[in-house]
Amino acid sequence: MSTSDPNNVRVAVIGAGMSGILTAIRLQELGIEFSVFEKADRIGGTWRENTYPGLSCDVPSHAYTYSFARNPDWSRWYAPGPEIQAYFQKVADDNGVTELVRFGDEVTSLEFDDGAWELRTAGGYAGRFEAVVAATGVLHHPNVPDIPGLERFAGACFHSARWDHSVPLEGRRVGVIGTGSTAVQITTALIDDVEQFTLFQRTAQWIMPGDAKVFTDEEKAAYRDDPGKLEQFVAQVKDSMRVGISQAVIDADSVQLRKIEHLCEKNLNTVRDPELRERLRPTYRAACKRLIFSPDFYDAIQKPNAVLVTDPIERIEPEGVRTRDGVLHRLDVLVLATGFQVDRFVRPIRVIGRDGVDLNDAWADGPLAYISVTVPGFPNFFMLNGPNGPVGNFSLIDVAELQLNYSLQLIEALRDGRCRELSPTPEATAAFEAERRAAASHTVWSSGCNSWYLDRDGVPATWTFSWDRFCEEMNAPKWEAFSLR
Ligand code: NAP
Repeated sequence: MSTSDPNNVRVAVIGAGMSGILTAIRLQELGIEFSVFEKADRIGGTWRENTYPGLSCDVPSHAYTYSFARNPDWSRWYAPGPEIQAYFQKVADDNGVTELVRFGDEVTSLEFDDGAWELRTAGGYAGRFEAVVAATGVLHHPNVPDIPGLERFAGACFHSARWDHSVPLEGRRVGVIGTGSTAVQITTALIDDVEQFTLFQRTAQWIMPGDAKVFTDEEKAAYRDDPGKLEQFVAQVKDSMRVGISQAVIDADSVQLRKIEHLCEKNLNTVRDPELRERLRPTYRAACKRLIFSPDFYDAIQKPNAVLVTDPIERIEPEGVRTRDGVLHRLDVLVLATGFQVDRFVRPIRVIGRDGVDLNDAWADGPLAYISVTVPGFPNFFMLNGPNGPVGNFSLIDVAELQLNYSLQLIEALRDGRCRELSPTPEATAAFEAERRAAASHTVWSSGCNSWYLDRDGVPATWTFSWDRFCEEMNAPKWEAFSLR
């Protein structure tokens, strides 16, 4: 890679998913020397790892695109997973990123020493980089539930993010544990193919009636022929998300949240059997857990071969799942749609910052970052979609683009010789964290439910301010919040 800065700042990008591809493209444009490390054998991150039936994005497709690579050809309002994977592959190929990625070599450790990070991989590579961008994703490490007897199940059993496509499903008894976005998508995809579909629900979910729109060839052609029209449509979709959801999630008293609640309630009322309807009714407010969008979940769960089990799971036996009421639910296949360990971020990579401090120790009380991007004591280290960033059905592409723009401004200070080391001050980080936690009490996430948004103290580990505030913060770093050496 060519480089134009006198200080020869080299950047290590960890991960070649959505945010890693983005980072590589931008670094290339700026003429900054970089290497991309990817542990798998192809790009794609979450869209490579998740291949479960029904996989799709619950953020409208046109809002889930890079600002510099709009896609007039999305097939549906919510694009299917393989189409999204193909989009990222195409963007990476078109921008010459794929050929630059070091595939199949997992980064195992990062150690900061004298103005640079020593990076090591499982394959034995060692190199020095002045800055690191951790593009390692969020929903990455499967959460395998600690249910007694799980290992004794005689049929096929796998996590939703590790789908075993060699296992036949047609005409078989399939059970799914979980009722998050993943389980809902699997339910609607499999219901017509399997003999019996059993959904084990620990907590009911509010479900918004998702849009099943399929884009016509004429619409796609119109967007292809007129980029201005496409851009206008993208802006319109994003605006409606911002107005409809962003205010709702951070203000539990908002009109927008009431509207969401009303729509979810109306959707639930389409369930004909009153007993089933009540078992599907959550006991907390809509959007407290991540809102699920599905045009056909309630149809699927009302089909004759669908069984909704709400009795708690007692244990797994070789033949199936035994619930507390003593019933054995016999199954051939058991899917764990039980979510992810969401507090890992860049870990399990061993990250040792200034003065030998281990990130595991710095984060002993939970992941902490200044405005979601940087960590005190870990200089020249930038996280995309890191701790406490915006969640709540936003496009994580938009989040990553803004965070990268912010990080690049900080990296510029290394390039132009203003400093060799840069990290947020503990004071600025503590002040931000105190403000963030105070704002959390007004959000819907704190309104009385359990979700993966909450940290171990029950405080939302999210961006608890408005989307506009996030854009503002990412626009330009507040230099007084950083220590430059
Ligand atoms: P999730 O939302 O964390 O849901 C996990 C489910 O497993 C919950 O219903 C949970 O029940 C249940 N569960 C966990 N441990 C259990 C146990 N020991 N016994 C019984 N039930 C158990 O996970 P997810 O559905 O994979 O979704 C995670 C996130 O991924 C989503 O919120 C979304 O952000 C993202 N996602 C996005 C899309 C998309 O379209 N963009 C699609 C899929 C996923 P409780 O509710 O009782 O804890």
